[in-house]
Amino acid sequence: MWSAVRTVGTVAFAAVLAAVGVVGLQAPSTSHPDVVLAAVLDRHGAEPSGGVSIFADEPALNNSGWASCPDPIAWNVDTSGLSKAAAARQLANLRWALAQWNRASGLEFRYAGEAALVYDESTFSLTRADGYVPPERHIYLSFIADGSSRLLGGATVGQGGPSAVIAAAREIVTANAVFRIDHVVRASTRAVRSLYLHELGHALGLAHLRSSRSVMYPTVTDQVRLGAGDIKGVRSLTKPCP
Ligand SMILES: [Zn+2]
Repeated sequence: MWSAVRTVGTVAFAAVLAAVGVVGLQAPSTSHPDVVLAAVLDRHGAEPSGGVSIFADEPALNNSGWASCPDPIAWNVDTSGLSKAAAARQLANLRWALAQWNRASGLEFRYAGEAALVYDESTFSLTRADGYVPPERHIYLSFIADGSSRLLGGATVGQGGPSAVIAAAREIVTANAVFRIDHVVRASTRAVRSLYLHELGHALGLAHLRSSRSVMYPTVTDQVRLGAGDIKGVRSLTKPCP
């Protein structure tokens, strides 16, 4: 899921991220269930031939991708909704999931620490409570209480997607993902790692795939190995380092 992607029209990177902070995000144009516990196949958008699916419902993202040069993509997490022990566990699982995507794509990620993040569901955005806008590409991750979210309720346990793209450079520069607390504290390590791979895949720009051997399959599985379509997809949206 990646509604509310903000398109920005300048290539000056720091200026772009500052602009993201002051200009309201557009309202979500589409909303559909994300990773769900029941065996419900996502019906939004057909999977293209070749078993790769990216940018399903955001034209602004067409031919866009991530770079991690010269600096890695920074990521912050807000685990304030979790106990200390649960936070440590989930941080380890998130690191593990990002390492898998790093291995597949070459994209580098740098953990930038805990941050108090404010979740605005109307724009599916996470922003820092202290107002700070990092001058680098970044991903924000947070844990949301069941019942406090319309997007994360019932069988839906996670959401993720890019949140800003530099239109001229076709470069995704920020992304968000949120996870439901009651699910992640109960789920097995394998199931929660599968969820993180999936939502981080969306954050990187991947859509759903129909193959249950893919982590981008639209329902929760215990798949913790990236499938061929996942790998092909993330490689296609990784911008090469000079
Ligand atoms: Zn999904």
